[in-house]
Amino acid sequence: MKKLFALITLLATLNGAQAQDIVAHRGYWKDNAQNSIASLQKAQAFGCWGSEFDLHLTADNCVVVNHDREIKKNDIQKSTLEKIRSFTLKNGEPVPTLEEYLEQGKKDENCVLVLELKPHYSLERENLLIDKCLQALKDADLLNPHRAVFISFSYHICKELAKKLPDFTVQYLEGDKAPVEVKADGINGIDYHFSKFQKHPEWVQEAKELGMSVNAWTVDKPKDIREMIALGVEQITTNEPELVRDIISGKK
Ligand code: MG
Repeated sequence: MKKLFALITLLATLNGAQAQDIVAHRGYWKDNAQNSIASLQKAQAFGCWGSEFDLHLTADNCVVVNHDREIKKNDIQKSTLEKIRSFTLKNGEPVPTLEEYLEQGKKDENCVLVLELKPHYSLERENLLIDKCLQALKDADLLNPHRAVFISFSYHICKELAKKLPDFTVQYLEGDKAPVEVKADGINGIDYHFSKFQKHPEWVQEAKELGMSVNAWTVDKPKDIREMIALGVEQITTNEPELVRDIISGKK
């Protein structure tokens, strides 16, 4: 079976289909800490196509990198930067600011930064998060479609980003809409949980025919990785970059 999938992948590649890009989910965080600067560094060193990270706005309007909405029961959106910075990640790093993260991001021009803007309590807060992120990217000289890709579960954030940055890739995460609907709202990509593509395999082709980019999260098991490769998604977001690379190359 493994050989069959490797053959399908090889034939698809020979047929002009591109091999999948690997996106490290919350950085390459194994033996490390999710969303840490060290995890971004490892994704870069491993040669991941991209490294994903999650963004929230503090009460005093600073952007920090963290997955959960809360840190030790402190709601990030209702806490000051000073409070959030008093917490450390598993590897001892303080919770990174977006600016610090981008400093590391700048060090490898081959690793795309995949910014996930988390849904916020109001549309105004979501708009402010967008503005802060774009300003930080601009200040770091990273506001470039080859360096930054945007993803969000917030349809509002995706629509706003698509309006502001027509040349950039914006991928919607929720997986509750067919590609044609997302495209009609001006958004040029989807990044859906792999189970959505297993349920709607036709969405991959549909999106591609619409000129949209297609990413699948968070694909960690060989069976699911092989299915996403066979479907022809463009990117695979994973906690297992090495495994995905080995499967794509036919090594596993
Ligand atoms: Mg994320």
